[in-house]
Amino acid sequence: MTAHDTTLPGSTLRSPADLAAAGLVAPVALPGLEAVAARYAIAITPASLALIEPGDAADPIARQFVPTEAELVMAPEELADPVGDTTHSPVEGIVHRYPDRVLLMATHTCATYCRFCFRRESVGQGDGTLSAGALDAAIAYIAAHPAIWEVILTGGDPLILSPRRLAAIMDRLAGIEHVKVVRLHTRIPAVEPERVSDALVAALKRSGKAVYVALHANHPRELTPTARAACARLIDAGVPMLSQTVLLKGVNDDPQTLAALMRGFVESRIKPYYLHHGDLAPGTSHLRTTLAEGQALVAGLRGHVSGLCNPTYVLDIPGGHGKVPVGPAYISDGEVTDPWGRTHPYPRG
Ligand SMILES: *Cc1c(COP(=O)(O)O)cnc(C)c1O
Ligand code: SF4
Repeated sequence: MTAHDTTLPGSTLRSPADLAAAGLVAPVALPGLEAVAARYAIAITPASLALIEPGDAADPIARQFVPTEAELVMAPEELADPVGDTTHSPVEGIVHRYPDRVLLMATHTCATYCRFCFRRESVGQGDGTLSAGALDAAIAYIAAHPAIWEVILTGGDPLILSPRRLAAIMDRLAGIEHVKVVRLHTRIPAVEPERVSDALVAALKRSGKAVYVALHANHPRELTPTARAACARLIDAGVPMLSQTVLLKGVNDDPQTLAALMRGFVESRIKPYYLHHGDLAPGTSHLRTTLAEGQALVAGLRGHVSGLCNPTYVLDIPGGHGKVPVGPAYISDGEVTDPWGRTHPYPRG
């Protein structure tokens, strides 16, 4: 329980002035934050606000959601489109980089905006939603490509769409025989759990396809009882859940926090899937770790927590060249390293 619980349900904070009124930023910071707001979307839902310890700039939830002037600092290696979405987008709303799966982005809007968002140059910008005509063209593209086995709804956050709109999309996908799996990547169960209603769950179920939901969460405090209950509504309805986490400096880059987060997922019946190395999104260098730091953290997990709690540490190669595992190597020429760092001989070849 924090001081902010009294503000629930309340409304989403959307401007630097809102943040100052809620005591999250100092009034003297407002001019700098207006410059940030002119570039990148800001939103903090009541559920996200309730997790923030007011007055603590180092708070791991504040670091994820409360903007700072550090976002105006661009590192030379940073890219407007770090994962190369535009180079692999055959029609608006579709990214087709791997032969058997596409991203379908029906919305560019999120409930709470992450300060490290890898799509921050497009997410939260413009009116946000794919037009009816563009959605028709995107669905037609999927229907015309029989190699597409899986459709991944992302964005933006697909669960921000109304159950009626989600149902309409699921019905369109239901009509495409070669699509067998629909996956949704979302933060909604943690940032706006009340949206996970019976109507929303029913909308996801109605395609008859295998439907998976991947929850994006980065700190164990995000897995509140309310968030866990929202996930349980999906899982109990037969929707398996996976996790994705972004490795973030000052948020989850220590062994205890990372282990607690992964255990929290597994306790909630969510299988840890990916731990993403921080993408080279503009103005996010203050939140990025090095690959070596990430590898040491992942090696520590392997030695200390259940195999169920071990995600794959991945890097999305800048320029749109795909994701690859970047965890520590255990095998070298003639030697294998055990989970506690000791080496043992193993035959070559
Ligand atoms: C991340 C991503 C996927 C999904 O990759 P998985 O390894 O299957 O989770 C698919 N398409 C694009 C363009 C992606 O960036
Ligand atoms: S939920 Fe995903 S798309 Fe939305 S702001 Fe966060 S990282 Fe970006």
